[in-house]
Amino acid sequence: MSQRDRIMRDAQRTAVEAREAAKRGRDAQKRERAKRSFSTPDHRHCSVCWAPIPLDEDPPVCSDSECGETRRKRESSRKRLTVMLYLFPAIAILLVFLQVIT
Ligand SMILES: [Zn+2]
Repeated sequence: MSQRDRIMRDAQRTAVEAREAAKRGRDAQKRERAKRSFSTPDHRHCSVCWAPIPLDEDPPVCSDSECGETRRKRESSRKRLTVMLYLFPAIAILLVFLQVIT
């Protein structure tokens, strides 16, 4: 390989590296800008209508009374489901147990 070829190859490699470095820099800048334009104070969302509410709001619903009502209903049906989840297998096991001992 002649010296001229080597110089050409090295120059091309340097150009490619420079281009990649520039691209990386641009991407980082773009990401940074996107992050800044979307930065909002920390918050959470109403579990019913997803309206932004303060982070320490508990229960996590907005001031709308309908949302509070919906959340209460959901919560109670979830609790009922959890109880059934344990109760039905327990009854099944009890029935099997009774059959075995009688
Ligand atoms: Zn809501």
